[in-house]
Amino acid sequence: MKKEIEIYIDGVYYPQSEAKISVYDHGLLYGDGVFEGIRAYEGIVFKLHEHIERLYLSAHAIMMKIPISKEEMLKTVIKTLRKNKLSNAYIRLVVTRGVGDLGLDPRKCPKPTIIIIADSINLHSKGAKENGISTMISWVRRNPVDTTTHEIKSLNYLNSILAKIEATSTDVDEALCLDKNGWIVEGVGENLFIVKNGKIFTPPSSSGALEGITAKVVTRIAKNMGIEAYQTSITPFQLFSADEAFFTGTAMEMIPIREANKRIIGDGKPGPITKKLMDAFQKVIVDPNEGVPIYS
Ligand code: PMP
Repeated sequence: MKKEIEIYIDGVYYPQSEAKISVYDHGLLYGDGVFEGIRAYEGIVFKLHEHIERLYLSAHAIMMKIPISKEEMLKTVIKTLRKNKLSNAYIRLVVTRGVGDLGLDPRKCPKPTIIIIADSINLHSKGAKENGISTMISWVRRNPVDTTTHEIKSLNYLNSILAKIEATSTDVDEALCLDKNGWIVEGVGENLFIVKNGKIFTPPSSSGALEGITAKVVTRIAKNMGIEAYQTSITPFQLFSADEAFFTGTAMEMIPIREANKRIIGDGKPGPITKKLMDAFQKVIVDPNEGVPIYS
């Protein structure tokens, strides 16, 4: 039998089957909380400082004070990986508003709940990286910046889930969401890039997209290769007529997009720029300078 993962909840480690939180936790009752998905590759936690920084900024935006410092949080993530003897992992770091009463008033929740799960994640079938995935533009609009925007990485993902259901129920791999003006924003948990005439383009965070840590790394890699990179609004037409397209995200990593709403993108195969960036990305994620070592 597979050994149970040890999960951190508020300073204590519990075997997976015993890792439980209160039904009065507002993370459950109201989706009131924030989270990060983080990956470790070959003993290095990729961009751990950046993920922790974003977690605390999301918490600040929802006026929730995380009860431990960023430095302690970093050490606790590392400790959780060591406890589970992991070198390659997907880490889910969750901070909920904590236990309150049945009303939604966050003032009734004296202490946020901190949860760290170090496990693995598998979003797509094996051939996805080689062949690309199918996408469709969903009827579900991305929340604009004046609502529960995805700029805050909160526990409210129903919007993404509705779009995902729409895609998978018609046998499409992934959904794309538009903003209220009809520009494409991002996928359900990943940023979108298109390639046109040798340049790469991604929608700006002002459309409500999350400022992806992976997207930032991929943009840097592209610029270092001499590929021009722009943050700009993208229309469905521009996606349909792109030379290449791909997603970036911590869980998704880099995945080529083969088609959108049944329109084949480019020649339907991962294009040369996508492939070049994917190869370079594979090298960057295991670079010790890009993260924090687990065992040192
Ligand atoms: N957009 C959304 C809505 C996300 O949830 C995520 C992360 N899961 C991303 C984009 C990608 O961000 P990152 O590269 O920082 O994981």
